[in-house]
Amino acid sequence: MALVVQKYGGSSVGTIERIKHVADRVAKSRAEGSDIVVVVSAMQGETDRLIKLAKQLANQPDSRETDMLVSTGERVTIALLAMALQEVGCPARSLTGRQVGIVTDSMHTKAKIEKVVGDRLRETLAEGVVPVVAGYQGINQKSDVTTLGRGGSDLTAVAIAAALDADRCEIYTDVDGVYTADPRIVAKAQKLTKITYEEMLEMASLGAKVLQIRSVEMAMKHRVRLQVLSSFEDKPGTLVVDEEEVMEKELVSGVAYSRDEAKITLLRVADRPGVAASIFGPLAEAHINVDMIVQNVSEGGETTDMTFTVSKGDFERAKHVIEGQRGKINYAGLIADSNVVKVSVIGVGMRSHAGIAQRMFRALAEKGINIQVISTSEIKISVLVAEEYTELAVRTLHTAYGLDAE
Ligand code: ADP
Ligand code: ASP
Ligand code: MG
Repeated sequence: MALVVQKYGGSSVGTIERIKHVADRVAKSRAEGSDIVVVVSAMQGETDRLIKLAKQLANQPDSRETDMLVSTGERVTIALLAMALQEVGCPARSLTGRQVGIVTDSMHTKAKIEKVVGDRLRETLAEGVVPVVAGYQGINQKSDVTTLGRGGSDLTAVAIAAALDADRCEIYTDVDGVYTADPRIVAKAQKLTKITYEEMLEMASLGAKVLQIRSVEMAMKHRVRLQVLSSFEDKPGTLVVDEEEVMEKELVSGVAYSRDEAKITLLRVADRPGVAASIFGPLAEAHINVDMIVQNVSEGGETTDMTFTVSKGDFERAKHVIEGQRGKINYAGLIADSNVVKVSVIGVGMRSHAGIAQRMFRALAEKGINIQVISTSEIKISVLVAEEYTELAVRTLHTAYGLDAE
């Protein structure tokens, strides 16, 4: 019998009516002859609501207590969905991360999964009962509740699929697949029938939140067959596959954007060996991830400007760290700007083609959009532009690379 893991996101379980609808879907899949493990998120908006409550008490709420708090969201939905399934005659049992043995490290709010014990899942399935598992949560060695980072229910689903060697992992959400760009911004975005793990990983890393980054990484590593589908409509979704399975390699298969960027420029730092290390060393020690970096050519060979980006969440801390190093780095001034967005184009076809970046720069220039920072890798090009241009930049690039639907 095929084993399928089905994950339903926050909007899919956002109301009692929707939970009933999910129950019907699960019961139908089971009646068609598959063993089903269900993973659910909290009801839409619930995790945000809980985080807001914590923020009313503390500027930086304790991370252990935050996990204890936010993990309640998924407890509600597993119980409700199990009840809804029982009501339609489908035996079901709710299980927390702890009960299914999702063991993680102790990095509260962004814990990494170390193993999935899974015995309880296997026993439940053997009884003919559908396990309804709380996504996003695990436990550390001390049995304290941990969470897996925002969007982490996707990771729970993939980790369970890998541990049980499931035939498929289906991610049900409020769009019917992975599109060439966020369909909420680009009306002419097209649904992709297939996308490679590499491209999906880049898209997720560059801001397309349709799948959580680490869930794609894990699916790629364990070769989990991952599919993104609509929980509202019966339509074929998008399959995430190996590169060999994609016959036609598009030059560019998608455009993504991330508003989670902030830019810091250090004016007139000394142009000599060791300066970059004196800037980025302390940031690394403070666990601040630096994303894009540009160093200008120095005039006269003595000083240069250095610009880099960090996530918005690390922005204040990054400024603080740099200001603390002013004596050592010796810069003339610091310009901080969080009104920026990173827009990226992604495609495995880029590996073997020249001129892709040029098309991007020209298209943006024609719209009068100034590029502040550029970074590239084998299968993506990213540019940093002023945040007010987000929609225009994404749509312009979508058109420029011929991705618009007719
Ligand atoms: P869920 O709550 O089901 O986990 P998410 O909100 O995390 O759903 O992810 C789905 C959302 O991802 C969509 O509503 C869509 O706006 C957004 N999204 C961003 N980029 C893309 C893309 N390229 N294709 C599809 N959806 C995308
Ligand atoms: N409820 C969690 C969140 O909002 C996990 C998830 O939705 O995947 O981030
Ligand atoms: Mg999500």
